Amino acid sequence: MDIMFKSTRGAKELVTASQAVVKGIADDGGLFVPTAMPKIDFELSDITAFSYRELAYRVLRLVLTDYTEEELRGCIDRAYDEKFDTPLIAPLVKAGKYNFLELFHGRTIAFKDMALSILPHLLKTAAKKNGVDEEIVILTATSGDTGKAALEGFADVEGTRIIVFYPEDGVSDVQKAQMVTQKGANTCVAAIKGNFDDAQTAVKKIFTDVKLKAKLKEHGFVFSSANSINIGRLAPQIVYYFYAYTQLVNSGDIKTGDKVNFTVPTGNFGNILAGYYAKQMGLPVNKLVCASNDNKVLYDFITTGSYDIDRKFIVTVSPSMDILISSNLERLLYHLSGSTDETRRMMSELAEKGRYEFNVNDEFAAEYATVGETLDAINELYKETGYVMDTHTAVAYSAYKKYLSESGDKTPNIIVSTASPYKFAKDVLRAIDDKYDGINPFEALEVLCDVNETPVPGPIKDIDKREVIHKTVIDKDEIESFVEKILL
Ligand SMILES: *Cc1c(COP(=O)(O)O)cnc(C)c1O
Repeated sequence: MDIMFKSTRGAKELVTASQAVVKGIADDGGLFVPTAMPKIDFELSDITAFSYRELAYRVLRLVLTDYTEEELRGCIDRAYDEKFDTPLIAPLVKAGKYNFLELFHGRTIAFKDMALSILPHLLKTAAKKNGVDEEIVILTATSGDTGKAALEGFADVEGTRIIVFYPEDGVSDVQKAQMVTQKGANTCVAAIKGNFDDAQTAVKKIFTDVKLKAKLKEHGFVFSSANSINIGRLAPQIVYYFYAYTQLVNSGDIKTGDKVNFTVPTGNFGNILAGYYAKQMGLPVNKLVCASNDNKVLYDFITTGSYDIDRKFIVTVSPSMDILISSNLERLLYHLSGSTDETRRMMSELAEKGRYEFNVNDEFAAEYATVGETLDAINELYKETGYVMDTHTAVAYSAYKKYLSESGDKTPNIIVSTASPYKFAKDVLRAIDDKYDGINPFEALEVLCDVNETPVPGPIKDIDKREVIHKTVIDKDEIESFVEKILL
């Protein structure tokens, strides 16, 4: 069955999956959602022996229905290859009584690689299928990890340019070093004086600026997005929820058909939404536990029904979750309310008043961890098991423990692990031992190596010794004019 996509905000236009991938966001500012939720057409017992690539094909073909088998397999083969440092791609690792789904084995050692290693291929294929001749300009707002993963994915990809905006003071030293040293003639990176929400809002505004889009089209450019507002990023993330499940079956922890919980460190709600899609497609999931850091707008929303961004933005040790305006929540609001009118109304209330009310159902639970609790969690698990978590994964671990003690829900749980501890080595080390307080962030990489008894991952080895290529810093109000200046 062909799945079509429509805007969450009610525009009548229906597009195919490949058209939605090229467009990134709907013309009315809404996000593309499937008009009918696809359902798995395989038995869970039949997929337990599948490789990541085979499973990716079986799942993606159900969502991206207008891609041919050859096209999809081509994209998958080019994405999930030796760029990952394990043939499992997304291994499920046990530490004590906890299961961690490690999504950080790709080129930038954060979970964004899971989708951004395939998105450029999906996009190029989509452009060809739809006769798009213009150069595709990927505009990306990043809280740290998306930027680098998108840069790696799109660097020197013919027919594309990529422009990344990151908050000057809102990313880790390693994240920043990764971005500003990015090579590739088609890459451009700028720091902005503002936070992630400022960058994301400015970028979303450009996507719906009809005049600017027309002007750029004259010059041979179209915009697309590498943020999780693009369905081409969301769809590949569904795959690893199935893959995690099969690994838990294979290890004998569960039988096929048993339900599992996932605890997901959440910012823009893209990762956990992919888990929700997996559930809707037929994966036996009981609860999706949404884990927040001190910017606990999602925790408050899920537990009280009120989404309210009128609060202080807090810079934490888990910067990729320092977000107040969580874009993919819009898709969930649409799916749960079943109404584009309702969704549009809530989104305009958010834009105008900074708040809206909606009751999320009990498929979701929510918890949060403060910076102190996050660091304690790293320390605790390391002392108990020797396993070193990054600061984002530690938020989820801490949240899961709270959930467990409050709910008593003994359903087997998988903690989604979103970054390598090396990416946040400085904070991880000071969590492990006070003596590392104030350690130089790059020296921390070498020290963590000894603590963790594994080598520094290749992608960030000697990252501080590479040439800084991107030095631009702009005001948050200059994003649009900067884009014009770069392109025209
Ligand atoms: C992006 C990111 C998150 C948040 O994921 P969302 O899909 O935005 O909810 C969590 N942890 C890390 C390390 C990330 O890079």
